[in-house]
Order: sequence, then C-alpha cells, then structure tokens
Amino acid sequence: MPAPIPRNEAERLKSLQNLYILDTPSEAAYDDLTRLAAYVCDAPMATITLVDEDRQWFKSRIGITAQETPRSVSFCAHAIAQNELFVVPDATKDARFSGSPLVLDDPNIRFYAGMPIVSPEGFHVGTMCVLDKKPRELTEEKQVALRVLARQVAAQFQMRRQLLELREARAKQAKTEQRLRESQTRLKEANACLQEMVTTDALTGVKNRRAFDEGLQQAWKMSARTKSPLSLLMVDVDHFKRVNDTLGHEAGDDVLRLVAQTLQFMTRSTDMVARYGGEEFVVVLPGTEAEPAVAFAEQLRLNIANLSWRGHPLTVSIGVDSGSGSGKTECELVAHADAALYRAKNSGRNRVLRFDPEKDSPSAGKHTA
Ligand code: GH3
Ligand code: MG
Ligand code: MG
Repeated sequence: MPAPIPRNEAERLKSLQNLYILDTPSEAAYDDLTRLAAYVCDAPMATITLVDEDRQWFKSRIGITAQETPRSVSFCAHAIAQNELFVVPDATKDARFSGSPLVLDDPNIRFYAGMPIVSPEGFHVGTMCVLDKKPRELTEEKQVALRVLARQVAAQFQMRRQLLELREARAKQAKTEQRLRESQTRLKEANACLQEMVTTDALTGVKNRRAFDEGLQQAWKMSARTKSPLSLLMVDVDHFKRVNDTLGHEAGDDVLRLVAQTLQFMTRSTDMVARYGGEEFVVVLPGTEAEPAVAFAEQLRLNIANLSWRGHPLTVSIGVDSGSGSGKTECELVAHADAALYRAKNSGRNRVLRFDPEKDSPSAGKHTA
C-alpha cells in the first residue's frame, strides 16, 4: 500500500532539490554513518534514503543492491510521514507491506526501522534506516542511536547547503569583481579618450595651444634639470589669407591639415608639434642645439615648399630660438622665436631665421607672451 503524500509535499520536494544531492556519487561521510547504523543496530541492511517525487533514492546503502526503487513500494515514504522513529517489526504481518515486492521478493524485508532526516528548511526529505530479513525489535539504546545518526545526516545536509551557498556567493563575488574590472577598463579608456580630446586640435590632429603651454613648461624644466638644450620653431604659413580668399575656407582647412601632417611626419616622437593659433604652428625639439634646429627648420621649409598644394605655391616662414632651461623663461623662448619669425616675414617670407638679439626685438613678434 503506497504511503500517503504529505500535505507539504511541494515544499518538501523543493527543499530536497535545493540540496542538489539526488543522483550524486557516494560519499564517505554518509557511508560511514550508514555503516555505523548497521553496526550499532546489528542489521544486515542500512540506508540513507531520499524520498523523491516518484522514487526513493539511496545516497548510501549497505546490504542492498538497487540504487533506487519506486516510491509506491517504499517503507521510507511511510517513515517520512512520522515525526518519530517508524518501526515495522514484521512486514509480512503488516497489511501496508505484506504485498510489497520488497517483502515477497529480494531483498525479502521483514523488519524496518527508519528515522526521518530533517532538511535545513525543516522538511522530512528522507530517512536513516536499518532493515533485516527476519522479524525483530530495536532496543531502546539502538533506537536512540538511530535517532542520533539521523541527526548526523541532517547536520551533513546543513553543511552541504552552507557549502553550496558559499560557492554561489564566491561565484557572484567573482562576477562582480570581473564587472568592476571591466568598468574600470572602460573608464580608463574613456579618460584616455577625453584626455586626447582635451589636448588635441580638432582640425589638424596635432596638440592644441593648451597642451603646448603645459608641454613646453615641462620640457623647459626638464631641460634646466638635465642641462640639455631645447629648441623651438615658430612656423607660420605665408600668405595663408590668400588661400582662403581665392580657394575658400575649406581649402584653407585642408592646407592647415597638410602642413600639420608634414610637421608631425618629420618630427621625432619626443618632439612636440602644436597648433599655436590660426595658421601658426610650434615645434618643440628637446635635446636639440640651435644649429641642428635651424638645419631641421630649413628641411621643413623645403619640404613644405615642394608640396605645392593643388598647383598653388605653399610656403612657410620659421623663427627659431634655443636655450637650456636657464637664463630665460620658456615664455621668452617663444617670444624670441616669434620675433625671428617676424623678421623672416619682413625679409621676404619662405625662410628660416634664428633669433638674433642684435636684430630682433622680442616685442616685435605678434605673439609676444
Ligand atoms: P602672412 O604671410 O603675413 O602670415 O599672411 P597671412 O595671410 O598668412 O596671415 P594673416 O594673419 O593675414 O591671415 C591668417 C588667416 O588665417 C586669417 C584667418 O581667417 C585664417 N585662419 C585662421 N584660422 C583658420 C582656420 O582654422 N581655417 C582657415 N581656413 N583659415 C583660418
Ligand atoms: Mg600668422
Ligand atoms: Mg601667415
């Protein structure tokens, strides 16, 4: 006769599933308790049984070969309906079990004693039980032992649940940490992008005036610290207004981009090219003395003159000044290069001139800082 289905069956099954123990391999911790139950109760068979929806499944078993049997013939299904030890002294004399194949056939159960195992949520998910092939009783001490062992199994379940929760929490934590790392990376990228935008001239892609001011200040300090030379080129497109006037503002923009690209292409990664304003650019050459700086400026001038943009002449005038971080300020360095540029313009344009204190008055430049 099948056992009655407990009233809280749905919650009971949920609690059993939450243990994630059904169909798992045998474990020594459970097998030890089963062995102890068989030994203490002097029984040839003992099991830790879990009562699933349609079957009873043995987490651990001694003296029984089957891994599971239908719930309909299960003794344990009756035991979980009790709060106390469920004992069947002689199954052949019990109407509920006398027709059971487990009684009539292998393993020929006569005696059964099972104590419900309580899940962490308080449901009877299974039993710790002992069985025998002959009718018998359990002494008071053996009953106590079986109750104790059932509580030990429940404690194992509790630990299992805590372990599962711990693993879940760790996995969640790892996921959160991963997300955090990803968002930090995105933030860094966004910052780098922002930094690039803030320091770049939108039209030409070279450094803007602000980045130049900061960069020159640092380079000048470094030059003073290391007592190494630094040169600065002030580059101005000749008659640029004519480009705008004859070919249009967009053509003017193209010319500015072309000049900027040429400057960038010809300089080293340690140099700095910046748009100083309008059609003027500055090139900072750390570690470069005046003479090589003038030679380099001359090369720049020639290369740009050879570009001949869309058949139109394209030339630049360049003023050069050098120093080594002492004796003058970086603002004076800029003013001197600007003054030399002013003289280059007045001398006919398309030329490079180095600052000469005899000939140049720093205030002559248009950009005296
Ligand atoms: P000079 O040889 O004496 O340097 O003469 P210039 O015509 O090059 O110099 P001027 O200062 O008279 O004119 C510079 C022009 O550059 C005026 C301005 O409209 C133009 N300009 C400034 N910024 C831009 C820009 O971003 N795009 C374009 N297309 N033109 C610009
Ligand atoms: Mg100008
Ligand atoms: Mg100009």
